[in-house]
Amino acid sequence: MTMLADAETPVDEGVDLLAEMLPEDAHEGRPVVMDEQAKREARRAVIAGICVPGYIVPFGSREMPVARGWGSGGLQVTLAIGGTDDQVKVIDQGDEEGVNAVNLRRLIVGTLGAAATADTEVATIVQSRHRVPEEAMSVQHTLVLQVPQSEPLRAVEKSVYECKRRHAEADYAKMWVLLYERLALTGVMGTGTGHPVMVHDRYLMAPSPIPRWDIPRLHQSEHLTLLSHGRDKKIYAVPPYTDVEPLSFDDVPFEVEYLEGVRCAKCGTEASFMVETKTNEHICSDVQFCLKVRAGEADLDAHDVLIPHRYFPDPRKRVRARSSVEVGLPVPPPAGVTAPGEDWSLKVDGLGKIYRGSRGSSEVIAAADVSFDVAPGEALGVIGESGSGKSTVMKCIIGDEADATGSVRIGAVQEGMSNLLDLDASARRRLRTNTLSVVYQDPAMGLDLNISAGGNIADALIAAGWRSYHMIRRRAAELLARVDVPLERMDDVVGQFSGGMRQRVQIAKALATDPQVLLLDEPTTGLDASVAAGVLDLLRELLTERELAVVVVSHDFSVIKALTDRAVVMRQGRVIEQGLTDQLLADPHHPYTQQLVAAAQS
Ligand code: ADP
Ligand code: MG
Repeated sequence: MTMLADAETPVDEGVDLLAEMLPEDAHEGRPVVMDEQAKREARRAVIAGICVPGYIVPFGSREMPVARGWGSGGLQVTLAIGGTDDQVKVIDQGDEEGVNAVNLRRLIVGTLGAAATADTEVATIVQSRHRVPEEAMSVQHTLVLQVPQSEPLRAVEKSVYECKRRHAEADYAKMWVLLYERLALTGVMGTGTGHPVMVHDRYLMAPSPIPRWDIPRLHQSEHLTLLSHGRDKKIYAVPPYTDVEPLSFDDVPFEVEYLEGVRCAKCGTEASFMVETKTNEHICSDVQFCLKVRAGEADLDAHDVLIPHRYFPDPRKRVRARSSVEVGLPVPPPAGVTAPGEDWSLKVDGLGKIYRGSRGSSEVIAAADVSFDVAPGEALGVIGESGSGKSTVMKCIIGDEADATGSVRIGAVQEGMSNLLDLDASARRRLRTNTLSVVYQDPAMGLDLNISAGGNIADALIAAGWRSYHMIRRRAAELLARVDVPLERMDDVVGQFSGGMRQRVQIAKALATDPQVLLLDEPTTGLDASVAAGVLDLLRELLTERELAVVVVSHDFSVIKALTDRAVVMRQGRVIEQGLTDQLLADPHHPYTQQLVAAAQS
């Protein structure tokens, strides 16, 4: 049995005990903490990670026999890629002498039969949790980062499947919404640690909890960076000479931590990442670098190149948190969008949808041969009692309903040639970002109640490609003003709003990107009568000032009357009567329509 080192402290004894408990490598007499099969799995993931920079690669492994907080992910990578000819440096915070750093180093060195070093310059593998070393690294170095959270989207998306979907579609709008909200509330660009970065212009990556100071060091670096999360069993990589760009708005740059004029109390360096001591002094976080500077052995020219000047805080570009926003003139109505030679924006033809019962026994024909078209600037009503198929028609147009028959076309989409029912899910989502908007009866369906009113509108704008913080904020303020939401509520969480106010925010969000087609599904049904009347008035104004094609679904003729010029009457999935709304009200032909009219007038 080979000891990792001579026992000196209780911690050393613990490590030695661990070594004794583990089986020995038959040839080298070293303890086996990771078997060859597991190493191969990790190496395979490392290679995949290098091939697809920033992409999170899952790998198979057994649990490591180490405590949580030791960073089993980094350990697995180091043990999988390291060998006897390596020089291993292990740092925790900026220090080699912390308990974790000492013990991890002993375990790694003992297991690999590699040499330990504190010197970044001579190291071949640097394993770290919180820092990228201050000193320059080159092609000989591999930086292994132990990661506490591998999925950057977890902060904004709980579903694992949805996270994957967003990576696949490079749909990172929600992350910008998070940045928008932080800026609006704190005025500072940049999350605490682990600020999200775009790797190779493709994948969003969580760069472990390294300080923002270190993030620019990953960009176009000469060394290979491997990031690994042990419990999640995920590996990702930044190969040498790869672009790593911190997420930021076009007009509000990313910032690193930098206090102008502050020098390290020990070595006098001005531009390094510093920590504050208990006596309120600032000292270099990278202890080894600090020692070298003091000994006159540090390569300061090489370090100079790495100082992230470009990202030093610029007070002139600071955003005032929770500032009032200048509101310009009302948003001008966008030009009507029609297909050349066509007079419709939305055309539904022979739409059908059948719900089959679970055992194929009961079948519900929710929509059958439904046809109508809507011109730019026109609002069409769809009326019928509950269960008549109104929501089904709506869902078919949005694309929330599979297996619909017939066709749905929008003038602005491929000149009206493409049947939206044939689009795949991601194409439909893109359509929803700037062409087709929906206002639901339940505001929770159209809004994220956990984020602010401004953040919800930012969500729509960012999804449509807006990247200027100030323009987003101004647009959000204009829209909220237009729907009579007080500007001082702009940065309040929507969940705290009343029902009527939530519906106003939902309407503002739906209009944010000037869609060509707007669908309103029972927009006032959930509201108290007086509140509903106010929202109805607002909708009427908004529809007359814009060249939108609108479909209003309601069971209530007074809503249809207030908002629409034409209407179709639905019953049991079919259109039984249609015409000008006034005419339908004044002179309904079908007995069912007569009932609906009588109900509205009673
Ligand atoms: P409306 O919106 O006019 O109240 P819906 O379009 O919601 O009507 O429903 C039309 C018919 O389709 C109803 O008979 C309803 O029970 C049925 N239906 C709606 N959704 C489903 C579903 N997911 N599964 C089975 N039947 C459904
Ligand atoms: Mg309905």
